[in-house]
Amino acid sequence: MGLGISWVTAWVDDTVTVVSDNRVRLSELDREIGDGDHGENLDRGFTAVKAKFDGLAADTSPGAALKLVATTLISTVGGASGPLLGTAYLKGAQALGDATELDSEQLVAFLTAARDGVVMRGKAEIGDKTMIDAWTPAVDAASAAAAEGKSPSAVLRAAADAAIAGAASTEPLVAHKGRASYLGERAVGHRDPGAESSSLILTAAADAAEA
Ligand code: ADP
Ligand code: MG
Ligand code: MG
Repeated sequence: MGLGISWVTAWVDDTVTVVSDNRVRLSELDREIGDGDHGENLDRGFTAVKAKFDGLAADTSPGAALKLVATTLISTVGGASGPLLGTAYLKGAQALGDATELDSEQLVAFLTAARDGVVMRGKAEIGDKTMIDAWTPAVDAASAAAAEGKSPSAVLRAAADAAIAGAASTEPLVAHKGRASYLGERAVGHRDPGAESSSLILTAAADAAEA
């Protein structure tokens, strides 16, 4: 079975909850190698998204709903992560067109376009200690799962598990993009907050698909 608008709204609901639950922890990670606002930035953004979704028509397409996530994040999240994540949702939404039910291949197309949007905007490569270190393994795992004929929810779970591992993989790295890059070796031993939040967001996507 494909995933429709009810999956998108459940994903937003789960994201709002997980971002709120992890607000302090994400800002603590950002305090270690950045300016300490990442949790607040995302919490402000997704709270605004939730308000927009309260009035969403039931026949809204997944693509249109995800575009609303994008524009809301871009206009409400201060900091680097707002435009970057906003572009992820925007490019991902564009890849969906007006499809109403998303199969495994469409979810891979969504995730790939989302990741490519972050790269287009932020120019980070894998290993630069950014959210890309969560997104790129997620895209690769999702592609592999879809190629094996896995279901949409299994594709999203593969992406989420790879993003979790990818976020952990940022700990030993020196940063080459974002505020953490000013710290040089002092960033070593700290997890990138944006990679961590991206793993939470992708886990919410998988949880919403299984509910
Ligand atoms: P700010 O650094 O402006 O305070 P946030 O704290 O909200 O913004 O977000 C910081 C996160 O943004 C970082 O942990 C990193 O994952 C991500 N980030 C920063 N610059 C880039 C970039 N050029 N490409 C990809 N991700 C980036
Ligand atoms: Mg910050
Ligand atoms: Mg900031």
